[in-house]
Amino acid sequence: MKKALITGIAGQDGYFLSQLLLGKGYEVIGIVRRNRDMRLGALDRLPKELRDSIDIKHGDVTDSQFMNGVVKSSEPEEVYHLAAQSYVGYSFHNPQATFETNIMGTLNAVNAVRDISPESKFYFAATSELFGTPENAPQDEHTQFMPRSPYAISKLAGYWLTKNYREAYKIFATNGILFNHESEVRGPEFVTRKISLAVARMHQGSKEVLELGNLNSRKDWGYAKDYVEGMWLMMQHKEPDDFILGTGKLHTVRDFVEGAFAAAGMDVEWKGDGMNEKGFHNGREVVRVNQKFFRPLEADNMLANYDKAKHALGWKPKTTFSELVKLMVESDIEKSGH
Ligand code: NAP
Repeated sequence: MKKALITGIAGQDGYFLSQLLLGKGYEVIGIVRRNRDMRLGALDRLPKELRDSIDIKHGDVTDSQFMNGVVKSSEPEEVYHLAAQSYVGYSFHNPQATFETNIMGTLNAVNAVRDISPESKFYFAATSELFGTPENAPQDEHTQFMPRSPYAISKLAGYWLTKNYREAYKIFATNGILFNHESEVRGPEFVTRKISLAVARMHQGSKEVLELGNLNSRKDWGYAKDYVEGMWLMMQHKEPDDFILGTGKLHTVRDFVEGAFAAAGMDVEWKGDGMNEKGFHNGREVVRVNQKFFRPLEADNMLANYDKAKHALGWKPKTTFSELVKLMVESDIEKSGH
């Protein structure tokens, strides 16, 4: 039986990747940061028997001794390093914490593979945020990086560490440069889930107003379940490399809001401009722009060219933007019991 170690298993991608690997017959070992209630994040949504089949190790990726111990005791064929401070907005407020987890955590993970289990394949969760605001779209594996946040800078270090260890130590170390991917277990602070949760509550009768930043911000959004298949395919490729995964389609935050209300059977009408733009449903204000949610620097124009993954791995996204919005809203409505 093949063994896979997933850091950050309690996050969104860990939730989908662990199910994919268990379904393929892997033994799955996962690292979860300890919390007071011993909760397992997104994994708490898994059926009990699936959750119980995962070997959970509680610890922190910034602890090199812990990382070495886990790699030594589990001897995994594949290591998926997903643990990160993954929220761009938070990284502006706490760059040091972001660097510690995203840079030192990655160094510890890749060092553990090099020193203790050099035959293990290593996957690094890189990101389209590396591109910042590129001059040309779409972006491919040769596009110049111009990171525009502490998060993106930390991930650039992880990307280069992974490439450097591949070349210097000949370990199988692969970078997945993934564009935004969302799902029904996306963290509630991310804009897509913030919208789907608010719309679900309003569908239930809440009179709240959804406050958002830049409604015109455009993203290449896909479904996380499709993307973890791409991660696995990268690890089965004959050699380690760098691959982009995305949809090649751009949508605005406004598109997401409209799709979310539509999925809940509600329409939204826009009035006003810029900071004064508001969304109304049946005459009631339901969406408003708030300066607080703007970033000090926006990354924009990020659009994936995933041709390399398509040809080398046979990967392509399966879920459309409207299907994604619908499944997120329907899941949040169902969870709220209506
Ligand atoms: P996520 O939901 O935020 O999951 C990240 C996980 O890492 C969380 O469970 C978090 O645990 C854990 N973690 C954070 N710091 C840790 C530490 N010091 N030690 C151990 N665990 C720690 O992120 P995701 O959406 O699944 O994304 C997975 C990876 O892909 C991340 O590296 C992310 O940066 C990258 N990525 C994501 C996207 C996307 O659109 N989703 C796109 C490109 C790249 P806590 O709950 O304790 O914080």
